[in-house]
Amino acid sequence: MTIGVAVLGSTGSIGTSALKVLGRHRDRFRVAALTAFGQRDELEVQVAAFHPEFVGLVNGEPGSGWRAGSECLVEAATRPDVGIVVNGVVGAAGLEATLAALRAGKRVALANKETLVMAGELVQGAARQGGGEIVAVDSEHSAILQCVTGHRASALARIILTASGGPFHAWEAERVHRATVAEALNHPTWRMGRKITVDSATLANKALEVIEAHFLFDLAYEQVEVVVHPQSIIHSFVEFVDGSVLAQLGFPNMELPILYALTHPERLADDGVVRFDPVAAGPLTFEPVRRDVFPAFALGVRAGRTGGTAPAAFNAANEVAVAAFLEGRIPFGRIAEVIEVVLDAQPVAPADSLEAVHAADAWARRRAEEIMW
Ligand code: MG
Repeated sequence: MTIGVAVLGSTGSIGTSALKVLGRHRDRFRVAALTAFGQRDELEVQVAAFHPEFVGLVNGEPGSGWRAGSECLVEAATRPDVGIVVNGVVGAAGLEATLAALRAGKRVALANKETLVMAGELVQGAARQGGGEIVAVDSEHSAILQCVTGHRASALARIILTASGGPFHAWEAERVHRATVAEALNHPTWRMGRKITVDSATLANKALEVIEAHFLFDLAYEQVEVVVHPQSIIHSFVEFVDGSVLAQLGFPNMELPILYALTHPERLADDGVVRFDPVAAGPLTFEPVRRDVFPAFALGVRAGRTGGTAPAAFNAANEVAVAAFLEGRIPFGRIAEVIEVVLDAQPVAPADSLEAVHAADAWARRRAEEIMW
């Protein structure tokens, strides 16, 4: 028996990696559904290779046998022939599919961390209600899951998320402020989509991951720490109550966390993953986060601690500011400034309904655009 997998965002960075993994394990998994945003040609190539029963193109024309419109995400995620949903949709657009899949009792291999950041409590509630399960695809959270699996939750003392620090981790503050799009997209260790690559350069990504860890592993914010580790070899540390520390290591490659999210808690032999070599990995170094140079990090953690709809506003303001930076409308250093102005003005409410989350998201997007006008 093969397990049906839906890949949402199949032409993106996570989606294409997931299909490479799934292509190596056709005896175990079957691609039952594929959805993409607008890359029709690439989606056609994937459909020819995997023959999914369901195909959705969010920004497409109906009538080609493929579904169109954003509803296709929820449709794909809740199909009876789907057991695992790989959610690689970028940004807020992936939230409803995650909620629907969890309510339908599916495993969600979640690369869309924005989903948990915007609506962590709703996502947890949907999983409880429907019996679904969230398994993180983010390399740091996969590392933590791999370290804690087999241990009682009460044995966990704290986690230390590693951050590459992005391309500017050693730059002067003034130079960081003026960084260009090309410089921000030149990530030293990871090849990823544009939005997350900019988030890695501002360290907003690490703040999103702190909030993600809080919800995924039921940790207080005091239990989640961050250290800069430029080589991206150690994907995170876990400290237990006895002081013992475990870490998960490997060369940076998203295929391994994707494979683990599909098989957790089992492991599947895979000859497509590059084997580790400690000598080739070279010296491993660690530095504190320079919070003064990367204010988006502290702002995001502050939003997490505030709770309610504050993380949704942080995420929305960040998305809008990053898009403006990529379009050349604002300098790199302005991204964090926009986030700060939005968060300072936000009327925070409980994040207890999809409406409340969407309202905070829409308010923060509007406010961010007004500031940049
Ligand atoms: Mg990560």
